[in-house]
Amino acid sequence: MSPNTLVQEPATPPQPTTTAFDADRFNASVMTTYGRFPIALERGKGCRVWDVDGKEYLDFVAGIATCTLGHAHPALVEAVTQQIQKLHHVSNLYYIPEQGELAEWIASRSCADRVFFCNSGAEANEAAIKLARKYAHKVQEIQYPVILTAKASFHGRTLATITATGQAKYQKGFEPLVDGFAYVPFNDVRALEDAIGDIDEGNRRVGAVLLEPLQGEGGVRPGDARYFQEVRRVCNENGLLLILDEVQVGMGRTGKLWGYENLGIEPDIFTSAKGLAGGIPIGAMMCKKSCDVFEPGNHASTFGGNPFACAAGLAVGKTLLDEDLLNNARVRGEQLREKLNGILQRYPDTFTEVRGWGLINGLEIAGDRDITSIDIIKVTTEKGLLLVPAGPKVLRFVPPLIVSEAEVNEAMEKLESAIASLLG
Ligand SMILES: *Cc1c(COP(=O)(O)O)cnc(C)c1O
Repeated sequence: MSPNTLVQEPATPPQPTTTAFDADRFNASVMTTYGRFPIALERGKGCRVWDVDGKEYLDFVAGIATCTLGHAHPALVEAVTQQIQKLHHVSNLYYIPEQGELAEWIASRSCADRVFFCNSGAEANEAAIKLARKYAHKVQEIQYPVILTAKASFHGRTLATITATGQAKYQKGFEPLVDGFAYVPFNDVRALEDAIGDIDEGNRRVGAVLLEPLQGEGGVRPGDARYFQEVRRVCNENGLLLILDEVQVGMGRTGKLWGYENLGIEPDIFTSAKGLAGGIPIGAMMCKKSCDVFEPGNHASTFGGNPFACAAGLAVGKTLLDEDLLNNARVRGEQLREKLNGILQRYPDTFTEVRGWGLINGLEIAGDRDITSIDIIKVTTEKGLLLVPAGPKVLRFVPPLIVSEAEVNEAMEKLESAIASLLG
């Protein structure tokens, strides 16, 4: 008797598999810390993803500027598959060759000499904050060091990094915050100099300045090169450390490997995470040898720099260079901004500005229009284009760095059709 004889023919043809995702059930067991769009994603390839019902989307979110090589890139798949079969995790009690290789890759292509690995952007910034404080005690001889950060900045969700974040909405309800931070307006060097002068009460002084080269969450606001050059000068004159948060803009996103290359300066310390390993969790804090005051035991991370994450980072780095993706980010970014400027001109009452570098771009909605970024994104999502807001009035465009000319055109057609249908 063949096994098939036991299989009964269904009395009715099989139902089409409706996988309608049960969001209520999901929210019953997952903490509701996120406002989610009502789709559940299941599969991806290149710049496209598919939801559980098989609907296709062009992905201009890329895990929020994280999936550098898009989805299921053969180089990343190959690297992590090989590494997990060989050795995926060991403690930092031992030397990890892949960690050394990735640190060398970064150090040889940046102003930094040394790297500390962790698992996220917030952790990388925490490491930078700890290093700056140790440097203040040991080198600057400041007993209560203050780190200046910018208003409208974003540095993460841990207690120290929400404190560093110059936006009350991330801090509210989580007081008491961490001591030792003060805020200045972005792109305003006079305000920075004034704050350095004002915060000088005996042992309490400014030791470091922490800035994003381009404010991502704060609305895709590029730093002004002249401002950053002045900040560099002020830091030099006062013996302060300049720390750059490159978590969103680093690893090629802006068309340069590091965001600070757009500004004509070098930081003393910078951090990276999101795109560094293309979506495999990783974080890194880089510094010049002159400010590496960490000693054994000062800082650590169980997962930080494990073979799996570092193999992924190395594969992303190699592919960025092999496939000339920095150039692609520049060219596709120009194309994207040109298209966005066309939309701006056709809807001058609705949009006010297009701004960005490489493949991190924003389209700002007029403040007096009764329409938010989420309103527009709900419609683009229905039309098969994923976008992410950067605040209530800015649409953010951060596709994978492999995005093609045709994909940019397709995304812009979907966006314009969403705007047209929303505005009637
Ligand atoms: C996303 C982001 C962070 C936080 O990174 P996590 O990995 O979510 O901790 C920090 N700084 C900037 C600039 C970011 O964009």
